[in-house]
Order: sequence, then structure tokens, then C-alpha cells
Amino acid sequence: MPCAGRCDDYIPILKGAQVLIGLAADNLQPKLSPLPVLNPGGIEECVLAEIRKPNRSNILGYRQTGGYDSLIRMLDLMRPSDVVQTVKDSQLTGRGGAGFPTGLKWETVGKESRQPKTVVCNADEGEPGCFKDRAILDHDPHVVIEGMLIAGYAAGATQGFIYLRYEYPETFGILSQAVDEAEEAGFLGDGILGSDFSFQIYIRRGAGAYICGEESSLLNSLEGKRPFPRNRPPYPVTHGYQDLPTIVNNVETLASVPPILRYGAGWYRGLGLNGHAGTKVISLSGDIQRPGNYEVPIGFSLSTLLYDWAGGPEIGRSIQAVTMAGISGGFLAGADLDITLDDPCIKAKGSYLGSGGIIVFDDRRNMVEVAESAMSFFAEESCGKCFPCRIGTQRLSERLSGQAPVQAAAEWRKEVEDISQTMRATSACGLGTAASLITESLVRYFSDQVDRHLSSIVPPDK
Ligand code: SF4
Repeated sequence: MPCAGRCDDYIPILKGAQVLIGLAADNLQPKLSPLPVLNPGGIEECVLAEIRKPNRSNILGYRQTGGYDSLIRMLDLMRPSDVVQTVKDSQLTGRGGAGFPTGLKWETVGKESRQPKTVVCNADEGEPGCFKDRAILDHDPHVVIEGMLIAGYAAGATQGFIYLRYEYPETFGILSQAVDEAEEAGFLGDGILGSDFSFQIYIRRGAGAYICGEESSLLNSLEGKRPFPRNRPPYPVTHGYQDLPTIVNNVETLASVPPILRYGAGWYRGLGLNGHAGTKVISLSGDIQRPGNYEVPIGFSLSTLLYDWAGGPEIGRSIQAVTMAGISGGFLAGADLDITLDDPCIKAKGSYLGSGGIIVFDDRRNMVEVAESAMSFFAEESCGKCFPCRIGTQRLSERLSGQAPVQAAAEWRKEVEDISQTMRATSACGLGTAASLITESLVRYFSDQVDRHLSSIVPPDK
């Protein structure tokens, strides 16, 4: 059960958090994220289809646009197993990065007998270049609440937590109001709409640690512990929040569920291209004319998104590289930009779609500096649990910035390769693997820029 006291406040109190809390309270002006623009291709959407409707963020506007209809119909007509089967048939997978089949996760939790079970909405959107969850929560918070209710009903859970990124203070206010409205309207609480289904939602704010986006770190944080990733197995589906069965789903995943119940599993599957199911919201930023959140069919062409939808780079410039999965998927460049946005295609290039952030770099960018910036972020955010990541991210940062002494170019390349491979093989969570992708893709695509970097730091006679 939720504990008493200040549990609705910042959970893991980290160094500097109190200062930042003061900043949030006193200096930050409320600022909503921009509404996602309509895609110029006129392609049917799922998650963003209703988000631009007037007043969608309050319960009246949400109800006027079909909101909570899926919940009402579910409570009237569907058994929990029917809901699980529909979500399984839709082939919806986790949209936060891991890509695990959502229906299978719900089914596994549903089969567990220990109570209370919990639904956790992972809204700790800390990946650089990702801002889609914030847009969904700012403009369509009830769809996430409805998705959590449907997940709770399907799995027999009675409580839910929304774990919200610390840096989204305005979103906290919007979500709090939405939860209050849903309670007042009888969509949350005991005996929802006269049924025997009871469910309550609590909002919890993180304290700014990137690692809390990893589900087991998030659960530790939620329990008031230091947010180290947990060793797995066991997985959260059997041993999650307070060691009890727990669904952890990303914001976008949960927002996909009410439309799936409304229009059917076949409809959702059919939104994808070339045999892939469904859609993905892509956060596009960097050197691109029309940055923003775009919902694309899985299997959509990256170049169509970059050039036809988002206007391409500034006139006279060319796209040199993009990152995938925020920065966690490393770089793609050259001929490898000719891909479709689905995991089989992207994985064949050594990267992955992940949470869907894509940052664009045009031909003016020094990619060694970009890589150094990304590596510094990982070094700062490494939780320190395992030394290959804790030390490796620091050593790679030093080599990319030119701070580490180096005697020869070949030595630099060998060290960077060794450190990257060790991190990839031995790191306990995805941060260590992601950091190694940055250096590996840098060396693979931008050997000439690495050479220029080395020529400035290696003694001239080596
Ligand atoms: Fe922590 Fe890095 Fe190890 Fe992940 S890989 S557990 S972030 S030290």
C-alpha cells in the first residue's frame, strides 16, 4: 500500500534535489509542450488521433470525444481474459524502448494470485531527444488514466502509480487535476461505475535520475530505495512493486490501449506497414526544419519522415547523421539512413528504435564533439552499480574530449574498442550498452573525423 507522509513528493532525494525543488516551486513558469502537428501524409493515427481536439485535457472534453467509452464498454461486456486476448491480438508492444509484448505482460500478472497487484505508468521520460510522453500527458492525460484502468482490470490490479519525470512540473499539475476529475466522475475509486472493479491511481515524482526510466530502478525508487537496477530474473511481472506482481508500461503504450479496445485488435495491427503492427510516436529534433512529435506507422520510411514530413535540414545543408532511441541507439549515417522505422530493419544496422527519439545532425556538426557530449551525459547518469559502466563511461569521455594522454592513434582506437566491448558485454543494464553504441557507431561512420580529432591530440611523431 502507499505509505503515509510525503510520499507524493520527490522520492529518491539525491544530492542537490532540495535546491531544484526550490527552483521548481519559485521560478519555473507553467509551460505546456507544443501540440503535435497533424502529419502531412494524412496517415491514420492511434495515440495522437484525438489529442488536438478542443479541451481534450479535461474530463468534459475527453468524454465528448469518446473518452472512457472503452472502459465503460469493457466493464459491461468483457472479462479480463477478453481484454488480455484483444491486446495480445493487437500485437501492441512496449513503446518505452524494451518492446515486450503488452498482452503477454498483462496475462502473466493476471495469472499471479498474490495481491495487491499494481500497474505502474513509467512517465520518467529522461532520454535525451524524447518528449512524446510529455506531450501525451500534457494534452491527453485521461487517455493514460483510462489505459491504466484497462490494464488494472485485465490483470486484477487494484492500484496504480504514475511515476513522473521530475523535470515536468507543469505535467504534474495537469495529471493531478485529471486524477481528481476521474475520481469525481466515478472512473477511479471503489466499485467503479457500479462494478466490482476498484482501482486507485497515485502520482509520484522522481528526482531527476535518468536511471529511474529503467523499470526495476523505477520500482526501487517508488519503494523509497536507492534506484539501482535490480538483478533479473525475477521480473516485475512476478516480483515488482513491493515484491508483488506488477505491470510496468510506458505512457505511449497505455495511451494506445483505449483506441485498441474501441476499434479492435485488427484495426491497430493494420495501422502498421509491411507486416508490422501499429504505430510509434517519434520525437524528432536537432537540425531539421519542422521538429516535433510525429506518429508514424511501424515500418515507415525514415527519409519520408525527415524530408517530406519534417522539411529536411536547413536549405543548403545535408543530413550527416541521426541518433536512434534518443541517444541510446547510437548514430546512423550514410547509406544506413535509408531504413524503415521498425526494429528488424534498424537492428540490422546495429541500432534500435527504442523509445523513438531521433536527433538530426547536419553536415556542420563535429560528430566527435556530439559523441563526447552524449558520453558525458552517460557518465553523469551512470548509477555506479557496476564498474564497467561507472569507469568505462568516464574513460570514454576522457578519450573523446582529448583529456586522456594518448601516444598513438592506433592505441586510442584499441582502447576505445576494448572499453566499449567490455561495457557491452558486462554492464548490468541498458545504459552501459547504450554508451558503447555511441563510440562504436562514431568510429564506424566517422573514421575521418576521429582521425582529425586524433591528429590534434596525438604527438606529431607517432
Ligand atoms: Fe548502473 Fe551503468 Fe551498471 Fe546500469 S550499466 S546498473 S547504469 S552502473
